[in-house]
Amino acid sequence: MVKINIEDFCWKLIDNSIRKESIINNETLFSLSNGHVGTRGSLEESHLVSDYGHSEATLVNGYYDSEPIQYGEWAYGYAKNHQTVIPVPHGKHVVIEVNGTPFTLEEGKVLEHSRQLNLKEGLLTRAFKWEAPSGEVIEGRFERLVSYRYPEIVAQSLTIKAVESEVPIKVSFELDELDTLGKQTAEDDNDPRVKAQKERRFTIENRESKDDSTYVQIQTKASDLSLWVGSFVSTYSEQLQRNAENQSVSFEGSIKEGDIVTFEQFTAYSNQFSSGDDAEKVLKHLHNQMQTVRDLGFEKVKAQHLEDMAEFWKQSDIEIDGDDQLQLGLRFNLFHLNQAAARDGKRNMSAKGLTGEGYEGHYFWDTEMYMLPFFIYTQPDVAKSLLSYRYTILEQARDRAREMAIQTGALFAWRTINGEEASPYYPAGTAQIHINGDIAHAVDEYVQATDDAEFKWNKGLEIVSETARFYYNWGHFDETKQGAFVLNEVTGPDEYTALVNNNYYTNLIAQKNLLLAAEWIEEALEDDVKEAKDVLDSIGFSESELEDWKEAADTMFFPYEEERQLSMQDDSFFSKKVWDFENTPEENHPLLLHYHPMTIYKHQVNKQADTVLAQIVFPEVFSLEQRARDYDYYEGVTTHDSSLSRSIFGIAASALDRMDKAYSYFMDTALMDLNDMQSNTKDGVHAANMGGTWMSIVTGFAGMSVVDNQLTFKPRLPKEWQALRFSIQFKNRHIRVEMTEGDTQYTLLEGESLEIKHFDEVRELK
Ligand code: BGC
Repeated sequence: MVKINIEDFCWKLIDNSIRKESIINNETLFSLSNGHVGTRGSLEESHLVSDYGHSEATLVNGYYDSEPIQYGEWAYGYAKNHQTVIPVPHGKHVVIEVNGTPFTLEEGKVLEHSRQLNLKEGLLTRAFKWEAPSGEVIEGRFERLVSYRYPEIVAQSLTIKAVESEVPIKVSFELDELDTLGKQTAEDDNDPRVKAQKERRFTIENRESKDDSTYVQIQTKASDLSLWVGSFVSTYSEQLQRNAENQSVSFEGSIKEGDIVTFEQFTAYSNQFSSGDDAEKVLKHLHNQMQTVRDLGFEKVKAQHLEDMAEFWKQSDIEIDGDDQLQLGLRFNLFHLNQAAARDGKRNMSAKGLTGEGYEGHYFWDTEMYMLPFFIYTQPDVAKSLLSYRYTILEQARDRAREMAIQTGALFAWRTINGEEASPYYPAGTAQIHINGDIAHAVDEYVQATDDAEFKWNKGLEIVSETARFYYNWGHFDETKQGAFVLNEVTGPDEYTALVNNNYYTNLIAQKNLLLAAEWIEEALEDDVKEAKDVLDSIGFSESELEDWKEAADTMFFPYEEERQLSMQDDSFFSKKVWDFENTPEENHPLLLHYHPMTIYKHQVNKQADTVLAQIVFPEVFSLEQRARDYDYYEGVTTHDSSLSRSIFGIAASALDRMDKAYSYFMDTALMDLNDMQSNTKDGVHAANMGGTWMSIVTGFAGMSVVDNQLTFKPRLPKEWQALRFSIQFKNRHIRVEMTEGDTQYTLLEGESLEIKHFDEVRELK
């Protein structure tokens, strides 16, 4: 765990140690990104000392290479290619040599050392005092930021002061072109969640120099994507001699006692990289960005960045009175969530954000069901952009449906970057057809929260119609179940159960998807919405489909056990033997790393919330008594081996007024990465859980939901806190919610008056 000091009202993560383990974990925790480019919080001289780091990766969202998936035994329709986000050249290497010896944590004497991530400012700083083996002492300070305003730019500054004597110095900044790979351990090799790159997956295509900035163009080996990376370094100090060699710039000379020298470094990553893009044009744009930040200088770029961060926190901060540790944990999660989202409508956010190579930079259902609610209610434009990405991959989703022998409709890939299925293990991949309904649900949630008719009719309608069509065609009316509509051979959210009939969650989300599509189409036809009708024409919609979908939805089968009055996770779940939890040694968790999938599948054991998730997504469908019974049952068979589980159980516990449970799950959720609870923080943060943290507060403790288009709250404040404050955006209003013991105030900060519900009481906000 990182040593955390609670300072400045819980805005800073501080590590004063030089312990190798914490430096490795901090590479993930101290990552900075803006949704386009992300860079791990590695030490600037990480390449000089092998064990003070795990991976220095800088990742560009959606910049991946592919290679054919090798199957020992292939079957029709298996995913064809891996898509793996690849570490790209980065400009983080800075070598500070004093009298010929480079500064590292191993040489000379480290007199002071502190690194801190300032969440409020979005700045990573490192301050040190170091005595070189030859006796000279320097003080140094690095500051690093990844800009939101100039999304291509990573900026870094360095100041060095000579203490006590004159210091002969050489400072080199290297654009690290080739040494981009992390250190894969034997343990990582056996972990299916990791798959970091072992060989470099790009070649250098071009180099250019313009106005003292240097650029290199790299090209992936198989996916044919090209990226320009630029670098510029300058100093305000005249006493040092500048030398530029290849992709490295160094400054050499002496610093007089008490003098300070300052360096500024900008690294730029192009945001267009498909093979169709005009390389020269892309470079020109990148160079313009570079010139802009060079002219401004680091301090001005930083000042603008602080403004942007202040704006973010104004919209998105959540304040807890009564627990500093949690407050910091909570902000840490919001900070990383915000960093992970692409904002260009063409890319999405991956399961680890841009903080590590875990899960290969893939986009999953994590976005729609866990991370998107935060954006829908705090930055709806970003939510729209993320959903627009799904629209851009509809064509690949249609192709996938055809591969699955479904002639109309679309099936979104379980994990992907370019829209094609990249999951080589279909039982826990393609079989999770709930992803269609997850996306449709998110589209609906976004539209309800924003009334964005333009998005609804132009993009949303096509998404929800094509996903509904898939469900209708995948399922059938089963005579052995009184003609009920069934969805067979699927996997629900719980990945410790696979290829079953009638997963409760899947059937419910599919039912809602079918009804939503029918409702929107009826509305479009009735109101004669031109864009919507064009969309329906373009997908060859026929009105008879409406009746089909409604019939499937109305007769949808939901497995239920009458005797104990329990919702069944699927048709066969209860006929399986319950896992022997008592005799499973602690070290055999997570089960996925210690048991064959079939051993797991034949038992009643859950990796994560499944039926309980259905109940928090669609609370109106279940009575509280039903939810309580199901909660008790499923909690008993759930391992929480997936990081997507605890937040959901916590939210479900809030709704049941089981506040001790809700609180304890929330602690685990909010502190998951800071405490390295899943033992793999080094591979990247758990972004879905970070979204789960926001949902725990807003959906859980504040009990917020949208029922019949109306915002409803059922607040329950944990007894450990004195107050909880947050704000949300809803239908162009900005609303502040303040919960204290026994009282909740809702204040309209912006927008027209609105009626909301506080439990059953209607309140008008003016
Ligand atoms: C979970 C999935 C999730 C994936 C990526 C897996 O461990 O079981 O639900 O989508 O991680 O976060």
